Amino acid sequence: MNHDHIDYDAFFAEKISELKDQGNYREFAELARHAGNYPHARRYTGSGEEIGDVAIWCSNDYLGMGQNAAVLKAMTDAIKAYGAGAGGTRNISGTSHPVVTLERELADLHGKEAALVFTSGYISNEATLSTLAQVLPNCHVYSDALNHASMIQGIRHSRATKTIFKHNDPADLERLLREADPSVPKLVAFESVYSMDGDIAPIKEICDVAELYGAMTYLDEVHAVGLYGPRGGGIAEQEGLMDRLTVIEGTLAKAFGIMGGYISGSAVLIDVVRSFAPGFIFTTALPPAIAAGALASVRHLKESNAERIRHQDRAARCKRELKKVGLPVMDSESHIVPVLVGDPVRCKEASDLLLSEYGIYIQPINYPTVPKGTERLRITPSPLHDDVMMDRLVTSLAEVWQRLGLDLVS
Ligand SMILES: *Cc1c(COP(=O)(O)O)cnc(C)c1O
Repeated sequence: MNHDHIDYDAFFAEKISELKDQGNYREFAELARHAGNYPHARRYTGSGEEIGDVAIWCSNDYLGMGQNAAVLKAMTDAIKAYGAGAGGTRNISGTSHPVVTLERELADLHGKEAALVFTSGYISNEATLSTLAQVLPNCHVYSDALNHASMIQGIRHSRATKTIFKHNDPADLERLLREADPSVPKLVAFESVYSMDGDIAPIKEICDVAELYGAMTYLDEVHAVGLYGPRGGGIAEQEGLMDRLTVIEGTLAKAFGIMGGYISGSAVLIDVVRSFAPGFIFTTALPPAIAAGALASVRHLKESNAERIRHQDRAARCKRELKKVGLPVMDSESHIVPVLVGDPVRCKEASDLLLSEYGIYIQPINYPTVPKGTERLRITPSPLHDDVMMDRLVTSLAEVWQRLGLDLVS
């Protein structure tokens, strides 16, 4: 028998060339940060040669906690005390003292009975939403239109019925819940700070509607924990709403500067996820040094407001200065500073030019991360970006806009 074998690589190459034609092919910048000199980093070519130094303007290490002395010390001390890896899943030898201490600290941060740590924020959303919506018979999930991919995947994997409500629109949510069968379990999933536009959910109004119709609430505070609220508990803490939410989810990888994700909620809910979520059960735990670093970071930001105050000041100044020279800063209520380009190819060109000629690293944000036609540069000023750096950023961006003939606003 004569088989015509499929040329698999030809198929893959075709998929990649489609992406390139659309301007949506992603290239990563290879950088080595300088500890103690963040946000500066050395840049490497694809073949591993050093090119020069760049200033990072698009990191989600929002507060520079990945460079914090107490965090670095906690991590190096933990390596000396416990060694490198976790040694197994949580069930098989991976439940280390630092991980358990971290969970207590996180439960306290959000005013909840318990917390559960995962290897990433992505996994925490995927594992928790898929499990909760699966264990509740006939669960109906209501999901904000702009929810993160990790929440969408979790809901999809649960195979529960899903209805999307209009972004940040409690009236639309109410309209949908009013039509629903009062006897089925319901879960409303949304985020506090949406990281691409920088807008903030009306948490109170969404909780009011959810409560009226007996729905649980699941809030992703990934872009808010550490950054908002008197102890860094997020927008829900800032607004005094933490007790209104069934689950608050966060990451240890953005403002807390390390790695890992978590959920917080009632003791029984956490016990269900611990007991039924494959994404929690069947994977090696966070190493003790990672947990110890995250613990130091969470504790530091519970006590210290200095980073949060300076962070907001930096973001406000950045928006103001960019607007002054007519750059199209998109409306953002938070620390995120998106600048609209509106075309994937030109967005990448602007980013390439900034990197190669100005030593400024801002990754282009293209589809599918944002809708087509809203491609943008997403700037995240940190407490470590001083006025001199920021003024250089503004003049560089203005020059790039002029060179590429991009639109300014008058
Ligand atoms: C980054 C992100 C996550 C995933 O968190 P990681 O810790 O990076 O895996 C979840 N939700 C939102 C909204 C995010 O932006």
